[in-house]
Amino acid sequence: MSYTSELYLKGDLKLDNFIGGAFQPPASNAYLPNEDPSTSIVLNHLALSSEQDAESAISSACDAFEQWKALGYLKRAEWLVKVADAIEKERDHFAILESADTGKPLWLCQKVDIPRAVANFRFFAGAVRHQESKSHLMDDAVNYTQRMPLGVAALITPWNLPLYLLSWKMAPALVMGNCVIAKPSEMTSMTAHRLAVLLQEIEFPKGVANFIFGLGKDAGQPLVASPRVRMVSFTGGTFTGKKVAELCAPLFKKVSLELGGKNASIVFDDCYIDETVEGVVQSAFLNQGQICLCGSRIFVQNGIYESFKLKLVERVSKITVGNPKECWMGSLISKAHREKVMGYAKLALEEGGTFITGGDIPDLEAPFSNGAFFSPSIVEGLSSTSRCATEEIFGPLVTLHRFTTEDEVLGYHNQVEYGLAGSVWSSDVKRAHRVAQNMETGMVWVNCWLHRDLRVPFGGIKASGIGREGGEDSLRAYSESKNICIFMN
Ligand code: NAP
Repeated sequence: MSYTSELYLKGDLKLDNFIGGAFQPPASNAYLPNEDPSTSIVLNHLALSSEQDAESAISSACDAFEQWKALGYLKRAEWLVKVADAIEKERDHFAILESADTGKPLWLCQKVDIPRAVANFRFFAGAVRHQESKSHLMDDAVNYTQRMPLGVAALITPWNLPLYLLSWKMAPALVMGNCVIAKPSEMTSMTAHRLAVLLQEIEFPKGVANFIFGLGKDAGQPLVASPRVRMVSFTGGTFTGKKVAELCAPLFKKVSLELGGKNASIVFDDCYIDETVEGVVQSAFLNQGQICLCGSRIFVQNGIYESFKLKLVERVSKITVGNPKECWMGSLISKAHREKVMGYAKLALEEGGTFITGGDIPDLEAPFSNGAFFSPSIVEGLSSTSRCATEEIFGPLVTLHRFTTEDEVLGYHNQVEYGLAGSVWSSDVKRAHRVAQNMETGMVWVNCWLHRDLRVPFGGIKASGIGREGGEDSLRAYSESKNICIFMN
């Protein structure tokens, strides 16, 4: 069968689990309809997996582990390059599938999601080849320290950046010698399924990479709870992250948690105003505001507040929303998620805020009138401690606040429970540096946003998670160090 994007989108394909190198129906033989959120049209049907499927994937990964580990890092890196080449060859199909599954604009999938997935496999194939090992000499002995694979790793990923985040976990986990079981969000499993098809086509070693589809509590939780899975890498909401942490703790399981955020964009009077407006708009609304790193609280210093606000509203009025094949903004992930965002829009008014733009559903023609669209929205006049300004909304609804001093804005910034990322906009490098140092987050951008280098540590503090991935940190996250001391006398 030729797995073209047309086949995935015509309504009757069943997305089966990929276990031990073969596609298998779920034990329940039940499937979930998978919709395009921009039209609510059913695209295909997804395996509704259960503990039985999870156990079968774990057995397959355990069986494959010794051989994959013994292959050595150079050969494993060669496999990663083959995977990158295969995705790159099919990049147009992947972009179409990702856009249809998530409702996000096609241009974003073509420019960011799919190229990044290719880059992740290539990067970690290179990173492992440049990895340095340590040795410590004693008068009568030598110690050398080796990174060892952990065994079977469960990779649990959210719906906002499906292939991008799956490849971010899969590439380092595999290259370090682990076997993996991926459980993508039930709303966005198409590109993971397409990747499984590619693995089969390139004859990737069987059982090393397994995919199970379905709901988090039925398909994901058995992976987290299994003593045979030695590591869980989870990206998702803080609430689910807590549950994952609770299940892993009694098993002393290694865990990496990349969780929610409520990131701020801090704009000083002396910023480069036009570049800053552009950066703040991208940070607020890219991917419909559904990126964990999005800046959903905008703090602007008093001196430029009014002029900045005018420019901001003017720039947002130019954003096109609608057909994901043509517009800058597409639909949210689902109508249920839009309900959540609309709940916050209502709350914003109750909390005393005013919409200076948006706050509504755009008027679109069929079939997009049946999609989960929401206009880019900015609320002002809310207290920095209001629920809308402190809770993660994860959509195109952001709050705008004014401040006078550095200390004041740092106080506002640090009062939320999250600590993932933030941005500072100022032409005074000393000030930007000082503020960045005092922001309670894992990452800060100065005069830019989402400017990513795959070598740098990625992750948050406080309720935004524990552990770091990226570059060396990913190689460490998916391995354990082992020291060997050789007596020389
Ligand atoms: P979510 O509801 O927490 O789900 C994340 C993943 O966990 C999904 O695959 C989900 O499956 C699965 N899951 C749910 N319950 C589970 C359980 N009991 N055991 C094991 N797995 C379970 O998050 P989401 O709504 O998909 O994604 C949005 C969130 O992700 C936001 O909070 C965002 O900030 C965060 N995020 C963080 C980062 C970061 O790097 N820090 C990056 C991207 C997104 P189902 O969906 O199939 O139920």
